Amino acid sequence: MNLFDVYPLFPITPVKAKGSWLWDDKGLKYLDLYGGHAVISIGHSHPWYIEKLTSQLSQIGFYSNSVRIAQQEELAYKLGELSAYPEYNLFLCNSGAEANENALKLASFHNGRKKIIAFNNAFHGRTSLAVACTDDPSIQAPVNKNADITFLTLNDEEALEKAMSEEICAVIIEGIQGVAGVLVPTDSFLLKIKSLCELHGSLMILDEVQSGYGRSGKFFAHQSADVIPDIITIAKGMGNGFPIAGVLIAPHIKARQGILGTTFGGNYLACAAGIAVLDIIKKEELIENSRMMGEYMRQQLCAISTLKAVRGTGLMIGVQMRNQAAPVRKALLDDYQIFTGSASCKNTIRILPALNIQQEELETFLVALKKILETNP
Ligand code: PLP
Repeated sequence: MNLFDVYPLFPITPVKAKGSWLWDDKGLKYLDLYGGHAVISIGHSHPWYIEKLTSQLSQIGFYSNSVRIAQQEELAYKLGELSAYPEYNLFLCNSGAEANENALKLASFHNGRKKIIAFNNAFHGRTSLAVACTDDPSIQAPVNKNADITFLTLNDEEALEKAMSEEICAVIIEGIQGVAGVLVPTDSFLLKIKSLCELHGSLMILDEVQSGYGRSGKFFAHQSADVIPDIITIAKGMGNGFPIAGVLIAPHIKARQGILGTTFGGNYLACAAGIAVLDIIKKEELIENSRMMGEYMRQQLCAISTLKAVRGTGLMIGVQMRNQAAPVRKALLDDYQIFTGSASCKNTIRILPALNIQQEELETFLVALKKILETNP
Protein backbone atom coordinates (compact mmCIF):
# COMPACT_ATOMS: atom_id res chain seq x y z
CA MET A 1 0.00 0.00 0.00
CA ASN A 2 1.21 3.54 -0.81
CA LEU A 3 0.53 6.63 1.22
CA PHE A 4 -2.25 8.92 -0.03
CA ASP A 5 -0.25 11.66 -1.67
CA VAL A 6 -1.57 14.92 -0.15
CA TYR A 7 1.55 16.47 1.39
CA PRO A 8 4.42 18.27 -0.37
CA LEU A 9 7.40 16.78 1.49
CA PHE A 10 10.94 17.95 2.22
CA PRO A 11 13.42 15.21 1.23
CA ILE A 12 14.47 14.83 4.88
CA THR A 13 13.97 11.87 7.23
CA PRO A 14 14.31 12.93 10.88
CA VAL A 15 15.20 10.05 13.19
CA LYS A 16 16.06 11.81 16.45
CA ALA A 17 15.15 15.07 18.20
CA LYS A 18 16.18 16.89 21.37
CA GLY A 19 15.22 20.38 22.55
CA SER A 20 15.18 22.61 19.46
CA TRP A 21 17.24 20.24 17.32
CA LEU A 22 16.52 17.39 14.90
CA TRP A 23 18.87 14.83 13.32
CA ASP A 24 18.19 13.11 10.02
CA ASP A 25 19.04 9.55 8.95
CA LYS A 26 22.39 10.78 7.60
CA GLY A 27 23.36 12.36 10.92
CA LEU A 28 22.81 15.94 9.71
CA LYS A 29 21.62 18.31 12.47
CA TYR A 30 18.77 20.82 11.97
CA LEU A 31 17.59 23.78 14.05
CA ASP A 32 13.82 23.52 14.48
CA LEU A 33 12.15 26.95 14.40
CA TYR A 34 8.81 25.53 13.31
CA GLY A 35 8.03 22.69 15.73
CA GLY A 36 6.17 20.68 13.08
CA HIS A 37 3.35 23.24 12.57
CA ALA A 38 3.75 24.95 15.98
CA VAL A 39 3.23 21.76 17.95
CA ILE A 40 6.51 21.50 19.89
CA SER A 41 6.02 23.67 22.97
CA ILE A 42 8.40 22.26 25.62
CA GLY A 43 11.09 21.09 23.18
CA HIS A 44 11.59 17.64 21.67
CA SER A 45 12.15 14.66 23.99
CA HIS A 46 11.97 16.54 27.30
CA PRO A 47 12.97 14.06 30.06
CA TRP A 48 9.89 14.78 32.23
CA TYR A 49 7.60 14.30 29.22
CA ILE A 50 9.24 10.96 28.40
CA GLU A 51 9.04 9.88 32.04
CA LYS A 52 5.32 10.78 32.36
CA LEU A 53 4.35 9.05 29.11
CA THR A 54 6.38 5.89 29.62
CA SER A 55 5.31 5.42 33.23
CA GLN A 56 1.65 5.95 32.24
CA LEU A 57 2.01 3.43 29.40
CA SER A 58 3.34 0.81 31.77
CA GLN A 59 0.23 1.23 33.99
CA ILE A 60 -2.76 1.76 31.68
CA GLY A 61 -2.77 3.31 28.20
CA PHE A 62 -6.43 3.41 27.26
CA TYR A 63 -9.96 3.12 28.42
CA SER A 64 -12.95 4.98 26.99
CA ASN A 65 -14.98 7.83 28.44
CA SER A 66 -17.29 5.41 30.20
CA VAL A 67 -15.17 5.36 33.36
CA ARG A 68 -13.66 8.02 35.60
CA ILE A 69 -10.17 8.94 34.39
CA ALA A 70 -8.46 10.80 37.24
CA GLN A 71 -5.74 12.14 34.89
CA GLN A 72 -8.42 14.16 33.04
CA GLU A 73 -9.30 15.91 36.30
CA GLU A 74 -5.63 16.60 37.08
CA LEU A 75 -5.14 18.02 33.60
CA ALA A 76 -8.25 20.22 33.88
CA TYR A 77 -7.15 21.50 37.31
CA LYS A 78 -3.63 22.37 36.16
CA LEU A 79 -4.90 23.93 32.93
CA GLY A 80 -7.44 26.05 34.81
CA GLU A 81 -4.72 27.25 37.15
CA LEU A 82 -2.10 28.10 34.53
CA SER A 83 -4.49 29.62 31.98
CA ALA A 84 -6.38 31.69 34.59
CA TYR A 85 -9.68 30.06 33.59
CA PRO A 86 -10.25 27.85 36.68
CA GLU A 87 -14.05 28.19 36.55
CA TYR A 88 -14.34 26.96 32.93
CA ASN A 89 -15.19 23.36 32.04
CA LEU A 90 -12.99 21.25 29.77
CA PHE A 91 -14.03 18.92 26.94
CA LEU A 92 -11.10 16.83 25.72
CA CYS A 93 -10.70 15.70 22.12
CA ASN A 94 -7.92 14.94 19.62
CA SER A 95 -7.15 17.74 17.16
CA GLY A 96 -7.59 21.44 16.53
CA ALA A 97 -10.27 20.91 13.90
CA GLU A 98 -12.20 18.63 16.23
CA ALA A 99 -11.97 21.21 19.03
CA ASN A 100 -13.38 23.91 16.72
CA GLU A 101 -16.04 21.58 15.33
CA ASN A 102 -17.22 20.85 18.88
CA ALA A 103 -17.02 24.52 19.89
CA LEU A 104 -19.24 25.55 16.97
CA LYS A 105 -21.71 22.73 17.60
CA LEU A 106 -21.83 23.58 21.29
CA ALA A 107 -22.57 27.24 20.51
CA SER A 108 -25.41 26.12 18.24
CA PHE A 109 -26.78 23.70 20.85
CA HIS A 110 -26.62 26.57 23.36
CA ASN A 111 -28.53 29.28 21.49
CA GLY A 112 -30.30 27.22 18.82
CA ARG A 113 -28.90 29.35 15.96
CA LYS A 114 -27.04 28.47 12.72
CA LYS A 115 -25.19 31.51 11.35
CA ILE A 116 -21.48 31.93 12.03
CA ILE A 117 -19.19 34.93 11.53
CA ALA A 118 -15.54 34.13 10.70
CA PHE A 119 -12.71 36.22 9.23
CA ASN A 120 -10.90 36.52 5.93
CA ASN A 121 -7.66 34.47 5.84
CA ALA A 122 -8.73 32.44 8.89
CA PHE A 123 -7.71 28.79 9.34
CA HIS A 124 -9.79 26.66 11.70
CA GLY A 125 -9.11 23.11 10.45
CA ARG A 126 -10.38 20.60 7.92
CA THR A 127 -13.48 18.92 9.37
CA SER A 128 -16.85 19.95 7.99
CA LEU A 129 -17.80 23.06 9.92
CA ALA A 130 -14.22 24.06 10.82
CA VAL A 131 -13.24 24.05 7.13
CA ALA A 132 -16.40 25.95 6.22
CA CYS A 133 -15.17 28.67 8.63
CA THR A 134 -11.73 28.53 6.96
CA ASP A 135 -11.30 31.14 4.27
CA ASP A 136 -9.69 28.91 1.63
CA PRO A 137 -12.00 27.59 -1.12
CA SER A 138 -9.27 25.18 -2.31
CA ILE A 139 -9.72 22.99 0.80
CA GLN A 140 -13.54 23.13 0.89
CA ALA A 141 -15.40 20.30 -0.83
CA PRO A 142 -18.85 21.06 -2.27
CA VAL A 143 -20.40 19.33 0.75
CA ASN A 144 -18.78 21.91 3.06
CA LYS A 145 -20.50 24.79 1.30
CA ASN A 146 -23.88 24.23 2.98
CA ALA A 147 -22.81 25.94 6.18
CA ASP A 148 -24.04 29.47 6.81
CA ILE A 149 -20.80 31.42 7.27
CA THR A 150 -20.15 35.15 6.72
CA PHE A 151 -16.49 36.16 6.31
CA LEU A 152 -15.48 39.66 7.40
CA THR A 153 -12.23 41.61 7.32
CA LEU A 154 -10.15 41.21 10.46
CA ASN A 155 -10.20 44.34 12.65
CA ASP A 156 -13.04 46.00 10.67
CA GLU A 157 -15.30 47.03 13.55
CA GLU A 158 -17.84 48.78 11.34
CA ALA A 159 -18.40 45.71 9.16
CA LEU A 160 -18.75 43.57 12.27
CA GLU A 161 -21.31 45.91 13.77
CA LYS A 162 -23.39 45.74 10.56
CA ALA A 163 -23.16 41.94 10.29
CA MET A 164 -24.13 41.12 13.88
CA SER A 165 -27.78 40.34 14.67
CA GLU A 166 -29.98 38.09 16.81
CA GLU A 167 -29.49 35.42 14.12
CA ILE A 168 -25.75 35.01 14.71
CA CYS A 169 -24.89 31.86 16.62
CA ALA A 170 -21.18 32.58 17.14
CA VAL A 171 -18.19 34.61 16.06
CA ILE A 172 -15.03 32.51 15.69
CA ILE A 173 -11.62 34.19 15.64
CA GLU A 174 -8.01 33.06 16.02
CA GLY A 175 -6.07 34.55 18.95
CA ILE A 176 -3.49 35.43 16.28
CA GLN A 177 -4.08 34.36 12.67
CA GLY A 178 -1.29 31.85 12.07
CA VAL A 179 -1.60 30.22 8.65
CA ALA A 180 -2.48 33.65 7.21
CA GLY A 181 1.02 34.87 8.11
CA VAL A 182 0.74 35.97 11.76
CA LEU A 183 -1.93 38.68 11.70
CA VAL A 184 -2.87 40.04 15.11
CA PRO A 185 -6.42 41.16 15.96
CA THR A 186 -6.45 44.46 17.85
CA ASP A 187 -7.52 44.48 21.51
CA SER A 188 -10.27 46.88 20.55
CA PHE A 189 -11.58 44.47 17.90
CA LEU A 190 -11.68 41.57 20.37
CA LEU A 191 -13.56 43.73 22.86
CA LYS A 192 -15.99 44.80 20.14
CA ILE A 193 -16.73 41.15 19.26
CA LYS A 194 -17.38 40.39 22.92
CA SER A 195 -19.70 43.32 23.48
CA LEU A 196 -21.67 42.65 20.26
CA CYS A 197 -21.94 38.96 21.15
CA GLU A 198 -23.33 39.90 24.56
CA LEU A 199 -25.77 42.35 23.00
CA HIS A 200 -27.13 39.80 20.50
CA GLY A 201 -26.94 36.58 22.55
CA SER A 202 -24.20 35.17 20.30
CA LEU A 203 -21.12 33.32 21.56
CA MET A 204 -17.50 34.39 21.12
CA ILE A 205 -15.22 31.47 20.22
CA LEU A 206 -11.46 32.07 20.51
CA ASP A 207 -9.44 29.63 18.44
CA GLU A 208 -6.16 29.44 20.39
CA VAL A 209 -5.12 26.18 18.71
CA GLN A 210 -1.92 27.76 17.40
CA SER A 211 -1.61 30.98 19.43
CA GLY A 212 -2.33 29.41 22.85
CA TYR A 213 -0.22 27.61 25.44
CA GLY A 214 2.29 30.42 26.00
CA ARG A 215 3.20 30.91 22.36
CA SER A 216 2.21 34.58 22.34
CA GLY A 217 4.09 35.41 25.56
CA LYS A 218 0.83 35.04 27.54
CA PHE A 219 -0.97 31.75 28.15
CA PHE A 220 -3.57 32.83 25.56
CA ALA A 221 -3.01 35.51 22.92
CA HIS A 222 -6.40 37.11 23.68
CA GLN A 223 -5.24 37.79 27.24
CA SER A 224 -3.49 40.92 25.93
CA ALA A 225 -7.01 42.38 25.83
CA ASP A 226 -9.40 42.49 28.75
CA VAL A 227 -11.71 40.04 27.00
CA ILE A 228 -13.31 36.84 28.27
CA PRO A 229 -14.50 34.54 25.43
CA ASP A 230 -17.38 32.11 25.93
CA ILE A 231 -15.44 29.22 24.39
CA ILE A 232 -11.70 28.73 23.83
CA THR A 233 -10.17 25.95 21.71
CA ILE A 234 -6.68 24.50 22.21
CA ALA A 235 -4.55 21.82 20.57
CA LYS A 236 -1.05 22.06 19.06
CA GLY A 237 1.25 22.94 22.00
CA MET A 238 -1.00 21.11 24.46
CA GLY A 239 0.56 17.67 23.96
CA ASN A 240 3.97 18.58 22.46
CA GLY A 241 3.23 16.12 19.66
CA PHE A 242 0.93 13.65 21.38
CA PRO A 243 -2.53 14.18 19.81
CA ILE A 244 -4.71 16.00 22.33
CA ALA A 245 -7.01 19.02 22.09
CA GLY A 246 -9.59 20.72 24.23
CA VAL A 247 -12.57 23.05 24.41
CA LEU A 248 -12.69 25.40 27.41
CA ILE A 249 -16.31 26.24 28.11
CA ALA A 250 -17.66 29.15 30.20
CA PRO A 251 -19.82 28.09 33.16
CA HIS A 252 -22.96 29.73 31.73
CA ILE A 253 -22.94 27.13 28.92
CA LYS A 254 -24.53 24.05 30.40
CA ALA A 255 -23.56 20.47 29.64
CA ARG A 256 -26.15 17.91 28.63
CA GLN A 257 -25.12 14.29 28.50
CA GLY A 258 -24.52 12.99 25.02
CA ILE A 259 -24.29 16.31 23.13
CA LEU A 260 -20.51 15.93 22.62
CA GLY A 261 -18.40 12.81 22.62
CA THR A 262 -15.26 11.05 21.39
CA THR A 263 -13.72 7.60 21.66
CA PHE A 264 -10.07 8.59 22.01
CA GLY A 265 -10.33 12.09 23.54
CA GLY A 266 -8.91 12.39 27.05
CA ASN A 267 -7.25 8.94 27.09
CA TYR A 268 -4.62 8.21 29.73
CA LEU A 269 -1.60 8.73 27.48
CA ALA A 270 -2.92 11.99 26.02
CA CYS A 271 -3.59 13.27 29.54
CA ALA A 272 -0.11 12.23 30.71
CA ALA A 273 1.38 14.20 27.81
CA GLY A 274 -0.88 17.19 28.56
CA ILE A 275 -0.01 17.15 32.28
CA ALA A 276 3.73 16.90 31.56
CA VAL A 277 3.52 19.90 29.21
CA LEU A 278 1.73 22.04 31.82
CA ASP A 279 4.18 20.96 34.54
CA ILE A 280 7.16 21.97 32.41
CA ILE A 281 5.64 25.27 31.20
CA LYS A 282 5.07 26.19 34.85
CA LYS A 283 8.31 24.89 36.38
CA GLU A 284 10.62 26.23 33.67
CA GLU A 285 8.71 29.53 33.30
CA LEU A 286 8.36 29.02 29.57
CA ILE A 287 5.71 31.70 29.07
CA GLU A 288 8.19 34.28 30.35
CA ASN A 289 10.90 32.82 28.08
CA SER A 290 8.51 33.03 25.14
CA ARG A 291 7.87 36.70 25.90
CA MET A 292 11.56 37.56 26.36
CA MET A 293 12.89 35.60 23.37
CA GLY A 294 10.06 37.02 21.25
CA GLU A 295 11.04 40.55 22.20
CA TYR A 296 14.68 39.82 21.39
CA MET A 297 13.74 38.39 17.97
CA ARG A 298 11.50 41.31 17.11
CA GLN A 299 14.20 43.84 18.04
CA GLN A 300 16.79 42.03 15.93
CA LEU A 301 14.47 41.46 12.97
CA CYS A 302 13.20 45.04 12.95
CA ALA A 303 16.82 46.19 12.52
CA ILE A 304 17.12 44.29 9.19
CA SER A 305 16.33 46.97 6.64
CA THR A 306 15.60 44.57 3.77
CA LEU A 307 12.55 43.10 5.56
CA LYS A 308 9.13 44.55 4.82
CA ALA A 309 7.45 43.83 8.17
CA VAL A 310 7.78 41.84 11.38
CA ARG A 311 4.51 40.76 13.05
CA GLY A 312 3.30 38.82 16.06
CA THR A 313 3.94 38.54 19.78
CA GLY A 314 6.06 36.15 21.86
CA LEU A 315 7.34 33.22 19.80
CA MET A 316 4.69 33.51 17.10
CA ILE A 317 6.52 35.62 14.56
CA GLY A 318 5.74 36.49 10.95
CA VAL A 319 8.69 37.80 8.96
CA GLN A 320 7.52 39.50 5.79
CA MET A 321 10.00 39.78 2.91
CA ARG A 322 9.86 42.23 0.03
CA ASN A 323 9.74 39.27 -2.36
CA GLN A 324 8.66 35.62 -2.25
CA ALA A 325 9.61 33.86 0.97
CA ALA A 326 10.00 30.37 -0.56
CA PRO A 327 13.61 30.84 -1.84
CA VAL A 328 14.65 32.21 1.56
CA ARG A 329 13.06 29.26 3.39
CA LYS A 330 14.72 26.85 0.97
CA ALA A 331 18.13 28.46 1.53
CA LEU A 332 17.62 28.36 5.31
CA LEU A 333 16.90 24.64 5.11
CA ASP A 334 19.36 23.55 2.41
CA ASP A 335 22.33 25.75 3.29
CA TYR A 336 21.92 26.31 7.05
CA GLN A 337 19.71 23.35 8.14
CA ILE A 338 17.05 25.56 9.72
CA PHE A 339 13.34 24.65 9.62
CA THR A 340 10.87 27.54 9.31
CA GLY A 341 7.20 27.70 8.33
CA SER A 342 5.37 29.04 5.31
CA ALA A 343 2.18 31.11 5.29
CA SER A 344 -0.69 31.61 2.88
CA CYS A 345 0.68 35.14 2.42
CA LYS A 346 3.50 34.12 0.07
CA ASN A 347 6.13 36.64 1.17
CA THR A 348 5.99 35.65 4.86
CA ILE A 349 8.00 33.14 6.89
CA ARG A 350 6.53 31.88 10.16
CA ILE A 351 8.84 31.36 13.13
CA LEU A 352 7.26 29.10 15.77
CA PRO A 353 10.04 27.57 17.88
CA ALA A 354 9.81 25.63 21.13
CA LEU A 355 9.03 27.91 24.08
CA ASN A 356 12.34 27.02 25.72
CA ILE A 357 14.47 28.14 22.77
CA GLN A 358 17.66 29.94 23.79
CA GLN A 359 19.07 33.25 22.52
CA GLU A 360 22.16 31.56 20.95
CA GLU A 361 19.86 29.32 18.90
CA LEU A 362 17.92 32.33 17.65
CA GLU A 363 21.22 34.06 16.83
CA THR A 364 22.14 31.13 14.57
CA PHE A 365 18.96 31.84 12.60
CA LEU A 366 19.50 35.63 12.52
CA VAL A 367 23.04 35.26 11.15
CA ALA A 368 21.82 32.84 8.45
CA LEU A 369 18.85 35.04 7.50
CA LYS A 370 21.05 38.15 7.13
CA LYS A 371 23.50 36.25 4.91
CA ILE A 372 20.70 34.94 2.69
CA LEU A 373 19.07 38.37 2.41
CA GLU A 374 22.39 39.84 1.17
CA THR A 375 21.97 37.84 -2.05
CA ASN A 376 18.19 37.42 -1.97
CA PRO A 377 16.73 40.74 -0.72
N1 PLP B 1 -7.00 26.26 14.23
C1 PLP B 1 -5.83 26.86 13.97
C2 PLP B 1 -5.67 28.29 14.36
C3 PLP B 1 -4.80 26.17 13.36
O1 PLP B 1 -3.64 26.80 13.09
C4 PLP B 1 -4.99 24.81 13.02
C5 PLP B 1 -3.91 24.05 12.36
O2 PLP B 1 -3.00 24.57 11.78
C6 PLP B 1 -6.23 24.22 13.31
C7 PLP B 1 -7.21 24.96 13.92
C8 PLP B 1 -6.48 22.77 12.97
O3 PLP B 1 -5.77 21.95 13.82
P1 PLP B 1 -5.56 20.39 13.45
O4 PLP B 1 -4.65 20.34 12.29
O5 PLP B 1 -4.98 19.82 14.72
O6 PLP B 1 -6.90 19.85 13.17
